[in-house]
Amino acid sequence: MHRRQFLRTGIAAVSLAGLGSTVSGQSGGRDYRPGGPWAPNERAINYNAYLDNEELGKRLQKIDRRSDRMELDQIGASAGRGDPIWEVTIGDGDESLHLINQIHGDEPSGAEAVVKILNRLATGGSRQVEEILDNLTITIVPRVNPDGANFVGDDGLGTDGELRQRRYNINAWEEGDSRYLNAQSYYSGDVPGYDLNRGFSILPGFEPGDEDEDWWSVLDDFPEFGYLNVPVEDISLDVRDPSGENPYDELFGVGLNLNPETQAVTESFLDADPDWAITHHHQGANVVPESPDKGNGPQWQSIMSVMAPFGPRYAGLEGVDYAGYVGSGNPYLSEDAQRRSLQLNQLVNERAQQFGKGKFNTLTRYGYGPLWGSYLDALCPRTDAAGMLYEVSHQSDERGHKAIGTTVKITVEGFMATFERIADGSISEVDELDYFDMPLAQGIDSPFDR
Ligand SMILES: [Zn+2]
Repeated sequence: MHRRQFLRTGIAAVSLAGLGSTVSGQSGGRDYRPGGPWAPNERAINYNAYLDNEELGKRLQKIDRRSDRMELDQIGASAGRGDPIWEVTIGDGDESLHLINQIHGDEPSGAEAVVKILNRLATGGSRQVEEILDNLTITIVPRVNPDGANFVGDDGLGTDGELRQRRYNINAWEEGDSRYLNAQSYYSGDVPGYDLNRGFSILPGFEPGDEDEDWWSVLDDFPEFGYLNVPVEDISLDVRDPSGENPYDELFGVGLNLNPETQAVTESFLDADPDWAITHHHQGANVVPESPDKGNGPQWQSIMSVMAPFGPRYAGLEGVDYAGYVGSGNPYLSEDAQRRSLQLNQLVNERAQQFGKGKFNTLTRYGYGPLWGSYLDALCPRTDAAGMLYEVSHQSDERGHKAIGTTVKITVEGFMATFERIADGSISEVDELDYFDMPLAQGIDSPFDR
């Protein structure tokens, strides 16, 4: 229990890095008001309303049967349940885009959105759809973590019991898997498993055992756990940031690529050789620092936060000083990829603003610092891809009042806006510096934690 507590604390500290200051919330249902950040109760979202693994597979196969535009492949199986990891490819354009959803099992809206979008792209006849398919090759892994998405019963494997979902996969570490357990990602609670978005490796072809013993920073209190911190001279990638300097001595917390899920996604990514990379997640209770109603009524919930990876070139700009405390950017991205990352994120904000006041125009952003075991920071440098993180509110823990339809809708709009503006070239008209005008998300304590 003690260790679990420690790890969860450590993981929370990392995943919250870059958020703004935290303000106190008030307690529970008493504070519920439409438009405010709290749900009427903590059971406001029912996981049974989402597609389970079997249903998702059936839906994808059905779309595939009705259309000759898409290719559906099983690229792996989850570590614990052995459920399929699917990959969909659609379009045959020059711009390659790679998109993954639900790497955290309890963040399900992206997978739902993809089913809706595939229905449109695979069978739609509009000029817009045609333009997207002519100009983009889109590779999607709809659900990276089937173990977490379908966590049923006490061990995640049961066929009866409550569908619970959880962040981690279910994969027990075994002797010989790695020299130490990855302190960034391994959950040592009742059911073992990994945080897959801490498991990617920036080192091409890396396998556990390739590393030097002294790359590991072993925890004093828990000597079986360590962080893999790789000296920059052992990173074989070129520094592409125009500053030409690597601001780090070592990369902290590099992943081990130990799980079949991260291995399948890495292979899918390298095959796709993307110019653009998108990953979809959940955010907890964040609010817009200055609500549109000027402080009358409850604070407005951020419908989602976005985050673009960028390098020291932008991290060093005046006004971007918040990046200083979470890192100095990702120096392995070119000037071009950095600019396109900012444009990729800002264009979704532009789309959301078109919906007008209140519901969808509450986008915030995260301060950026590299998480070296994450999909974006480990893989984008491999192909110099621009990147985008979606963090759509209240799909899982600290559940809020956003209905499933709302979280899916903002995702569908964001993905479609992205496809359209890459396809018609208008993404290049986005002023990348507008990205930094988006407010930083402000954290707020959950009343349900008390
Ligand atoms: Zn997540």
